[in-house]
Amino acid sequence: MDPQVSWQELIDALQELDWERVRDLADGLLHWMKHGGFPPETLAVSQLVVGRLSEPTRSLGHDWNRNVAQAACSYALDLATQVLQDPNGIPRGVPFTLSCSDCDSGHPESYDEAVAAGWTDIRFVPQSMAENFLGLCPECRSVDEATSSTTAG
Ligand SMILES: [Zn+2]
Repeated sequence: MDPQVSWQELIDALQELDWERVRDLADGLLHWMKHGGFPPETLAVSQLVVGRLSEPTRSLGHDWNRNVAQAACSYALDLATQVLQDPNGIPRGVPFTLSCSDCDSGHPESYDEAVAAGWTDIRFVPQSMAENFLGLCPECRSVDEATSSTTAG
């Protein structure tokens, strides 16, 4: 395998929330490194314009790459396992911070509390700089439902 390609694919899969790929790629990289394979250059970035990986312009060395890659892959594998094993795709180990995707409403303390309060469409958004989860609050949901029933009727 080319660990550099796997590393970049892992980052892409995380951004796309493709959890089965995240699990397989993280697992594959960990296995590769465990059996003596060299680590990816963790500072390399893909050049989407030309569609291939850039040569790393700088490096912090082999030991850094190995430790960073192992930590990142372990974390990614754990996260993917949590998402895939939960019936609602909610990684239970991630701190629950929730915002409404349509307004700035309320902040339930837990997933169960949010569901009980009538939140829907709760999803994990690791790319978000603000909250770990987004959903639709009860107020916005009733506006949505009123709008769609008016349109339907
Ligand atoms: Zn709302």
